[in-house]
Amino acid sequence: MGNQKTNTFRHMRTVFSSVILATVALYSILTPFSAAASPSCDPTGSLCQIDTLLSLGDSMQQIGAPSISDPSWLKPHVTFTYSIATKGNITADMTEFRQLVNQTLNDARGWSRLNLTFNEVASGGNLTIYLAEALQMTSFSANGCSTSWSCTVGNTIIINQDRWLAATDSWNGGGGNLRDYRNMVVNHETGHWLGHNHLHCSGPGQLAPIMQQQSIDLEGCKVNPWPLDSELWSTRL
Ligand SMILES: [Zn+2]
Repeated sequence: MGNQKTNTFRHMRTVFSSVILATVALYSILTPFSAAASPSCDPTGSLCQIDTLLSLGDSMQQIGAPSISDPSWLKPHVTFTYSIATKGNITADMTEFRQLVNQTLNDARGWSRLNLTFNEVASGGNLTIYLAEALQMTSFSANGCSTSWSCTVGNTIIINQDRWLAATDSWNGGGGNLRDYRNMVVNHETGHWLGHNHLHCSGPGQLAPIMQQQSIDLEGCKVNPWPLDSELWSTRL
């Protein structure tokens, strides 16, 4: 009898434990889906709303939805490589040219906002950036380049040494300084490489788009060395 009672007790305990485990498991499965519609949750109650919002927040994180700090133009990270070259009689400081090109390409205000990194390599790379004597400009393209301006031909950007050393009347007349001009010309030509054509000033007093030919005419715009938000796209990405 004593054994029978013990066995019956053990059996009941096992059944009871199984029922509890099953209930907990079922509750765990159902809870994430039923929280918002739970009959114990008063839909007008603040706790219920907070619970629903927290669940929504968790779901958003799980599916990797963009947050407010991730704008629509942000793409997966890409690294481009480039090399530096010269053509003709160069009098400019090449160490300074190298540094300024790298800083411009990777500046937090520039094309790096597209989640790009530009790494200099000794030769080759995705892109070659020349500093060229003005007289050599047309040797890169008879029609696409002139002795007066910088240009981009295929995967080659050619910065005109005369512009690098002195900017232009338009830029200087608009109150731009030489450092900003150098940022602008590198960003403008890199913009062509990224797939951009020219833009015009959108109205007097506005910041010039980086793809406006600011070297030639500001068209009433303010000098601007960096791409506008509206210009943050690339056909290469
Ligand atoms: Zn251009």
